[in-house]
Amino acid sequence: MDRSPKETEEIRTRLLAHKADLQKRVTTIHEHARDPLEQDSAEQAAQLGNVAVVSALENEAVQQIAEIEAAISRLDAGTYGVCVSCGEPIGDGRLRVRPAATQCRDCAELDSRRA
Ligand SMILES: [Zn+2]
Repeated sequence: MDRSPKETEEIRTRLLAHKADLQKRVTTIHEHARDPLEQDSAEQAAQLGNVAVVSALENEAVQQIAEIEAAISRLDAGTYGVCVSCGEPIGDGRLRVRPAATQCRDCAELDSRRA
């Protein structure tokens, strides 16, 4: 895919900024998750519900960080922005919204319909 070094750097900057945001979110999640041993049982029960929510949020952020790291690797390999399913360009509009997207809109829709 033809991309100028300047464009590549812009994409990298955007991906790294996105990754930094997610890492900040994971840190915040950890700071807010309190130690269950310091609470009484009612608080613990409430906390158990929170733990499920917190770990779901954390898993999601960790997953997104992994996707961004994969996108940066593809950027280095020169395959960033190419659909992994059909090999067509993903499109700048879609990449702007989902910088770590691995599929073009058509293929992603096809997959989600199949799932
Ligand atoms: Zn595709």
